[in-house]
Amino acid sequence: MSSTRMCRLLMSSVCVLAIEACVDPEASGPPALHGGVDVCADCGMSILAPNFAAAALIEREGRREHAVFDDVGCMLLWKKQATGVRILEEWSGTMEGNGWVRVNDGYFVVGSDVQTPMDFHIVCCASSSAADAVVRSRGGSRVPYASVQPVIAPSQSNQATPNSP
Ligand SMILES: [Zn+2]
Repeated sequence: MSSTRMCRLLMSSVCVLAIEACVDPEASGPPALHGGVDVCADCGMSILAPNFAAAALIEREGRREHAVFDDVGCMLLWKKQATGVRILEEWSGTMEGNGWVRVNDGYFVVGSDVQTPMDFHIVCCASSSAADAVVRSRGGSRVPYASVQPVIAPSQSNQATPNSP
């Protein structure tokens, strides 16, 4: 084999490797959460409590990727300021601790005394009866996801310092 031909062969295999490395499978479905490793896309805190975590599948500059959050409130705040991002799907962890549910399939309770990582007091249950049980034992009220607002409960905000300039 001539050295030129050998060189061409090498070059073409390098090209194939380079192409393979670039073609990621498209992100789809909810992300796998790595507790203590993943950080919130909004506040930068480690995600330690999957029950209160949230996730979104987004499209940015033609690429699909996941964004994960330590608190549903963080996801809502992040959505308000995200630019150039298309949100394709959203999930929340659940009080019952059985993984992600699509936010539109979840049963949300706001304003209860359940402490969430960033004090938004937004909890999601996988079942209607579990959400009722939270309201009975911890207060708050049930709302559909579309009505959930990222507000810090007044009684809990004493120690929170606003980030406004
Ligand atoms: Zn956060």
